[in-house]
Amino acid sequence: MNVNALFCLLVVVFCSCWNVPPQSELHFGTICTINLYDKGTRKLYQSIFNRFNEIEDHLSANKAGTDIAKVNAAAGIAPVVVHEDTFTVTEAALRYAESSGGAFDPTIGPLVQLWNIGFNDAHVPAQQEIDYTLPLVDFRDLQLNSEQSSIYLPRLGMKLDLGAITKGYAADEAVRIAREAKSPRGVINLGGNVYAFGVKKDGSPWNIGIKDPLEEDSIVGIAEVRNKTIVTSGVYERFFEADGMRYHHILSPVDGYPARTGLLSTTIIADRSLDGDALSTAVFVLGYERGHQLIESIPGIDAIFVFEDMSIRGTAGVIESFTLTNELFRVRK
Ligand code: AMP
Ligand code: MG
Repeated sequence: MNVNALFCLLVVVFCSCWNVPPQSELHFGTICTINLYDKGTRKLYQSIFNRFNEIEDHLSANKAGTDIAKVNAAAGIAPVVVHEDTFTVTEAALRYAESSGGAFDPTIGPLVQLWNIGFNDAHVPAQQEIDYTLPLVDFRDLQLNSEQSSIYLPRLGMKLDLGAITKGYAADEAVRIAREAKSPRGVINLGGNVYAFGVKKDGSPWNIGIKDPLEEDSIVGIAEVRNKTIVTSGVYERFFEADGMRYHHILSPVDGYPARTGLLSTTIIADRSLDGDALSTAVFVLGYERGHQLIESIPGIDAIFVFEDMSIRGTAGVIESFTLTNELFRVRK
């Protein structure tokens, strides 16, 4: 190796170990920002983003060649052997479908595609189309074989959609990779699916803003957390407007329409982002009474509910450490 080549190699090695500012990339249809503070090297950020690419390649419902695309194409025909990522997330999704009584349903795919919310051709479907599509949504038909790591949708036209849980899985993976690289703290933000791991350098908790569902770049308040994930599902994430109505992307498997339960957003605080992501969607669809009951039945999980009447309620574990910062809203017991 000549002197120039050696010099270049040293520069590359040196730069990849050097601390760099927080990094952002587009994944899962949203901006993903990672801040690992003083342990954030280019190499470490890149290995997390590479892992996001891998997860998307297995789990995306909007990309050709993914496990999900293959399982959907083989619906009613044959089981498909899938990658461990796909099996793990689908198994977890099925568990949450069961515990939420089907409010969360990973076989929601045909309905998601019918509405196509978030894309240019989003529209309100005819009732006939909804009536035709709804019977294709039923998690109880989903067949998982753990020995073969295969997934089968037994009826033609059924489709998996893991959009409500994939970002949570990815956030957990990001934290695992960062911790394995001895990174003691950081904030992973996958378009509002946040994981604040470790504690701040001075030992104080993280202050995480809870988004104002009605106003861009605004928050309703701040939750203090240590080493937790905070995941929000809300009407503002993906929606379109028609005839003065807002149609958002969280669908009710009961009537096939965007879920209308008097809520604008639901936020879950948990140890695992996979749980937070699944539960934020499930609770949004269930509404306050049933959603609150579900959260109270699971130890170590808290929730914040923002209602259409601009009131906010939270479970006992979080409301103490929640600070309201937006005077248009009020906290209710
Ligand atoms: P999230 O933003 O995590 O609440 O997830 C919303 C996304 O999950 C949507 O864009 C759909 O892809 C999918 N989805 C919509 N409704 C449901 C539902 N009832 N159960 C499971 N996934 C859903
Ligand atoms: Mg979710």
